[in-house]
Amino acid sequence: MLQSPHESQWSPAAPAQPIRRDLAGPWHSEAACQRDEAGLFFAPSQEPTAARLSREQAAKSVCARCPVLLECREHALLQPEPYGVWGGLTAAERRVVLGRRRRRQAAEAA
Ligand code: SF4
Repeated sequence: MLQSPHESQWSPAAPAQPIRRDLAGPWHSEAACQRDEAGLFFAPSQEPTAARLSREQAAKSVCARCPVLLECREHALLQPEPYGVWGGLTAAERRVVLGRRRRRQAAEAA
């Protein structure tokens, strides 16, 4: 079973882009979703689209008031995390961000 961000055992990697907060710090313990009792962050199997959209919106609302949103998002982008809402982004949204980041980095390298 997938774990919420603060339940997993991981070490944050260096961010590809500078962010304000210290990724080496114990931000994991500050996560607003430490008790995801409603199961907002990961989809149950065969979840209908309307239910998924509603659940993801509720998860994003938690993320929006999370003090470690940026650290969590960068972690999810760097791993990358293939499932769930991390840092206020769904997996599909993270793929878009990663694609843009790769294109920007390729353009800068050219
Ligand atoms: S940003 Fe969202 S998923 Fe990440 S730790 Fe905070 S509440 Fe959890």
